Amino acid sequence: MAYAIELHPGQHLHIHNSGNQTVVTLTTAAPGQQQQASTSVTTGRWTAVPVLYRTHQGGLVKLATAQGDRYLSIQGTSMQLVSSPSVFGHPAPVPLEPVPDPTPAPPMAPMPPLEPMSPMKPMNLSMGNMQMSMQPMEMRMGDMTLGTPPPAAPARRFCSQCGASVQPSDRFCAACGHHLGE
Ligand SMILES: [Zn+2]
Repeated sequence: MAYAIELHPGQHLHIHNSGNQTVVTLTTAAPGQQQQASTSVTTGRWTAVPVLYRTHQGGLVKLATAQGDRYLSIQGTSMQLVSSPSVFGHPAPVPLEPVPDPTPAPPMAPMPPLEPMSPMKPMNLSMGNMQMSMQPMEMRMGDMTLGTPPPAAPARRFCSQCGASVQPSDRFCAACGHHLGE
């Protein structure tokens, strides 16, 4: 439910009921500028169309709710609920005009839409001579290779003297100089 009315020339009142909240937006248009004030008050759910009593300072909006009548006083750009309004003596109230939801003047700026997630790239990263791929798990930097050794890798040999790892083609241990047997 949303209603609007022109309070004074150039001053528009927009009001809508959201749950137990009544959201009031006051838009004042002057040449070259537009001011907007918005407030939200707990009133309960409306049971009838709000009506407006025009006053010299602004207006008094009567909200009929399930909890009883609520009065919203508007003076200039300030809006507040008043408990004991002096509506008597004012001219007859005028009903607000229904306007379509959603509100043309939302109290809060809408969130900018989130940028869509870019689709997952295949797990393959290339930077210069560095290459990484997941299948098989392997990482290369220049001519250095980390990861699972190729299945045909020859069995490692160790120095029988000191236990250091030696190449199968080595004839002497690089650590201790022990002559490696055939
Ligand atoms: Zn050795």
